[in-house]
Amino acid sequence: MTEYSVAVLEGDGIGPEITAEAVRVLERIGEQAGVRFDLRYAPFGGAAWFETGSAFPEATQAVCDGADAILKGPIGLGTEASKQIPPEEQPERGGLLPMRRRYNTFANFRPVYLPPELAHFSPLKPDRVEGGLDIIIIRELVGGLYFGAKEKGFTDHGLRYVNETLSYNEHEIRSILVVAFEEAMKRRRLLHSVHKSNVLMSSVLWNDIVDEVAKDYPEVEVRHVIVDAAATAMILNPRQFDVMVMENMFGDILSDLAGGILGSLGLMPSACIGTEKSYYEPSHGSAPDIAGKGIANPYSMIGSVALMLEKSFNMPGEAQRVWDAMRKVFGAGITTADLRDPEGRCTVLTTREFGDKVLETLG
Ligand code: NAD
Repeated sequence: MTEYSVAVLEGDGIGPEITAEAVRVLERIGEQAGVRFDLRYAPFGGAAWFETGSAFPEATQAVCDGADAILKGPIGLGTEASKQIPPEEQPERGGLLPMRRRYNTFANFRPVYLPPELAHFSPLKPDRVEGGLDIIIIRELVGGLYFGAKEKGFTDHGLRYVNETLSYNEHEIRSILVVAFEEAMKRRRLLHSVHKSNVLMSSVLWNDIVDEVAKDYPEVEVRHVIVDAAATAMILNPRQFDVMVMENMFGDILSDLAGGILGSLGLMPSACIGTEKSYYEPSHGSAPDIAGKGIANPYSMIGSVALMLEKSFNMPGEAQRVWDAMRKVFGAGITTADLRDPEGRCTVLTTREFGDKVLETLG
């Protein structure tokens, strides 16, 4: 029997609730496909810090090092709770960014998918999303402002200051662009490159590399769009987009905007692909406002399992079955509280009940 080991990091807030449903789906798929998933749980994030004094403890690093892939729940604390932890050791700076660096997970895939029958979940006017949406945001994940040198101190005049650096080299830019062009080749052969070359020199270099890489993909139509205009265009006419590629911070922000277009961040799974190891996580955070209530939407986490099946375990058929099952559940008028339909057309279920329905549909 084929066996894969999966590090399971449940994370904070709604993390354990939605991870439980994702794991049930993974196990069901394993039973049906004759694959054993050896699940290795380890603490990560705020919970890990309170337990061990580190958001990414050495024991968790060892579990992740030894796993074929990592399934990670959202991490993070509310603003007030965060103050109990020194800034450098807080879940993102002390756990998430070090994990991305450790496994060089440079390519973040964020599908923005809304099939036609679910278009009513979008807060946009129906004509904007008619026919549904199917966009892939590809975000560079281990460079730019989030990873650049940082310093803080006092000016000569005694004022507190910080200095954060936005740094990219051509190898880093080329690597993510190649991923994006390859993805465009598998789809509509249309690539929107998002940048800010009117202000940022890093975007000028980005555009130079776009031109160089584009020579290897003559079939792909490249459209340039400045990041602020991209935010407007995604609201006014999201259907024009297919594959979008951008640097780290732009991707962080625009993918949350995309979650708003879908109707909830709970519909945003993601894959963080590294040179040797990849991890899978929802695009959203730990949602402290609804944690512990059992009402979070597990789609983002179950979708992350689907991405793991496809990208780490070469099981695209099984991945498709997971997507289809969730689509069928929503299509039957079932949803979670975040997507409540103002006209009351949907039956609102808890996180666990939604997971039950997905399992029933998988058979
Ligand atoms: P958030 O993404 O946690 O929540 C934003 C809104 O979306 C909230 O109203 C929340 O209830 C809702 N939401 C998110 N996921 C949902 C789901 N699956 N089902 C239903 N509703 C959902 O953003 P935030 O509140 O700004 O951040 C909370 C914490 O998460 C912070 O500590 C932040 O740093 C952290 N964070 C972590 C990650 C990560 O682990 N990769 C990403 C983003 C934010």
